[in-house]
Amino acid sequence: MVNKMMFVLLKQLVKKPATNPFPVKHAPANVTALIEEVQKGEAQINPPVPVPEGFRGKLVYDPERCIGCRLCIMVCPADAMEWIPELKKIRHYVSRCMFCALCVDVCPGKKFPGEEKAVKALRMSEEFLIADYDKYSDNLIEEPPEAREPPKEEVKEAAESAGQ
Ligand code: SF4
Ligand code: SF4
Repeated sequence: MVNKMMFVLLKQLVKKPATNPFPVKHAPANVTALIEEVQKGEAQINPPVPVPEGFRGKLVYDPERCIGCRLCIMVCPADAMEWIPELKKIRHYVSRCMFCALCVDVCPGKKFPGEEKAVKALRMSEEFLIADYDKYSDNLIEEPPEAREPPKEEVKEAAESAGQ
């Protein structure tokens, strides 16, 4: 029995590893060093394992297709949607989302002239590399562009030109 086990183990030792070396096979001690190595062409990024069909990744919102029905807000079990009354549109917090796609199912979307049927304003993308230092970063909030506060630099420039 022991001999049989040893044989199986030795057989595994000479086999190719079944792991996917993502993002690189031999990662350096820190991310900055890794980025530098990739930029210099000394390291190559291995792609992650492909996602299956129907994968539920980061939610994407198209405000042009949104009719402001608020159904997504009503069905969301994670309270990840916020109503923007002045725009009659929604804001989505990716950091609260649990990727259930209930909001996508319920979204009626909008039909533009010349189109055969309405297209949903919400869809699940294939994006899953969404780690961030700030849960309120631009990368983790989906909202109409006009709902975004102007970047701090723009505010500073406007204040400076107003003072001239
Ligand atoms: S995917 Fe689910 S949790 Fe995320 S916003 Fe839609 S309904 Fe809410
Ligand atoms: S995103 Fe869809 S479900 Fe949500 S308010 Fe807009 S149209 Fe309605």
